[in-house]
Amino acid sequence: MKEKIIAFMRGRNGTDQLYVATLIAYFIVLFLSRYLYPNIMSALMTLLIIVAVFRIFSKNIQKRQQENRQYLYLVNKVKRFFKKLTQRMKDLPTKRYRKCSNCAVVLRLDRKIGTNQVVCPRCGHRFNVVIKW
Ligand SMILES: [Zn+2]
Repeated sequence: MKEKIIAFMRGRNGTDQLYVATLIAYFIVLFLSRYLYPNIMSALMTLLIIVAVFRIFSKNIQKRQQENRQYLYLVNKVKRFFKKLTQRMKDLPTKRYRKCSNCAVVLRLDRKIGTNQVVCPRCGHRFNVVIKW
């Protein structure tokens, strides 16, 4: 039996991170369906299951891997955004972030109230930064 399953799955996509995300989305929609638009949520759940099953058994592995890569790229973008945000929140008492007026690189500056002259470490541009609080 196990050999038959292995033989059947040979050359098929199987599970990946996007599959897991689809299942998580399914359970979120399942939870929401108890409170909001049960008919629409039910249709959405059916669609999610169809997509998940289709992706597992799909033989177009190249296309499925490309979809998974696009999904991971998006997830990493969101992760980086929140990582930056939490870093800035932690730095709030002691640091300020300003863009270089020449090359637009973001500089992490000490919080010195008033007008400060800054030299960009990337392009060497000198400019004034006003830190109010
Ligand atoms: Zn610069």
